[in-house]
Amino acid sequence: MTKKDVLIVGAGMTGLTAGLALAEAGKSVTIVDKGRSVGGRLATRRIGHAVVDHGAQFFTVRSEEFAQAVRMWEADGIVGVWTNGFDSNDPDGHPRYRTEGGMSQLAKHLAAACRNAGAEIVVKQRVDAVIDSGDSLTATYEAATRVPDEVDAMVITSPVPQSVDMLRAGGTPVPDDALLVTYDCVIALLVATDDDVSGVLGPIGARQAPLDPMFTFIADNKTKGISPETLLTFHTEPALSAALWNLSNDAILDRLQAELSRVLGSVKPTSIQVKKWRYAAPRSGHTDRCLRVEGTSRPIYLAGDAFGEAKVEGAFRSGRAVADALLDGSE
Ligand SMILES: Cc1cc2nc3c(=O)[nH]c(=O)nc-3n(C[C@H](O)[C@H](O)[C@H](O)COP(=O)(O)OP(=O)(O)OC[C@H]3O[C@@H](n4cnc5c(N)ncnc54)[C@H](O)[C@@H]3O)c2cc1C
Repeated sequence: MTKKDVLIVGAGMTGLTAGLALAEAGKSVTIVDKGRSVGGRLATRRIGHAVVDHGAQFFTVRSEEFAQAVRMWEADGIVGVWTNGFDSNDPDGHPRYRTEGGMSQLAKHLAAACRNAGAEIVVKQRVDAVIDSGDSLTATYEAATRVPDEVDAMVITSPVPQSVDMLRAGGTPVPDDALLVTYDCVIALLVATDDDVSGVLGPIGARQAPLDPMFTFIADNKTKGISPETLLTFHTEPALSAALWNLSNDAILDRLQAELSRVLGSVKPTSIQVKKWRYAAPRSGHTDRCLRVEGTSRPIYLAGDAFGEAKVEGAFRSGRAVADALLDGSE
């Protein structure tokens, strides 16, 4: 196997953004993800004919750096404005973007750009250890179905507790700051119905906390414009998600039934799926956009939406920052 310049763990927004910048700058890059497809929390599922975003629901744009990328994705027909606010009577004017066909399509678009720039993308491979042998950095894989990758630099973009596990398993130093990063979990309910939901969710097709105390976000993927059929996404409030976390899916549905009925009124579900996000959003993140692991022979960086700022935009900016750090340092 040819030794690559950089291995990126995680093909979510952070890893794909970093991979694209590095590959376009001429680095040889492999991006590896344990998931069946790219995207991470940019996650879309098909249920029957319906299409449902069950992780990130939309994204906002605050920085010029991200705005430039979003303008390109808009020109390519990948993303578009869903709404300028969730209160139809009082829009706040800030565009919320959706991805055509669901959030995972944005990740697929970025993955295609990475491949065009020469990067290799590997899915269904879980890194279990990151080893610094002095001559190079090595990632080993859980299933041993892939020869360990040896590289000159590594970027680890998984949620930080998972990144810490990989470092520890390989005997690689763990930055103290990484141990301070924590996340909220979220339980998502994906609710199919044949009924008209406009009376529940209004013309924009969504409600956001604090309008509902138990669900931080409720959206109809059809009204949002990504699904041919109605399918609702409910995100359960983090403290309630944590309280229910260890229950079976059936028991979670039992416990949330009354809250669901309160919101749905006369709308009757035809099916409900449960999706758990253990690391949904950083509760306490790190102020820098990426974090170099000290004491290694070659650069290992931690990056992701826990660094600098949260959400899709934060992940994008962390990906750019870690690529810049590797390129500026000629590492
Ligand atoms: C329920 C929910 C709602 C959200 N709503 C919004 C929203 O409306 N707006 C918004 O802007 N943001 C939202 N977010 C946050 C947004 O999705 C994230 O900030 C962003 O997608 C994070 O991207 P990332 O690349 O940093 O991390 P991730 O997308 O988590 O990518 C990390 C990747 O690492 C991979 N990985 C982990 N461990 C390993 C391993 N051992 N080996 C190989 N690969 C591994 C994972 O499979 C994953 O693909 C939401 C998130 C959730 C979960």
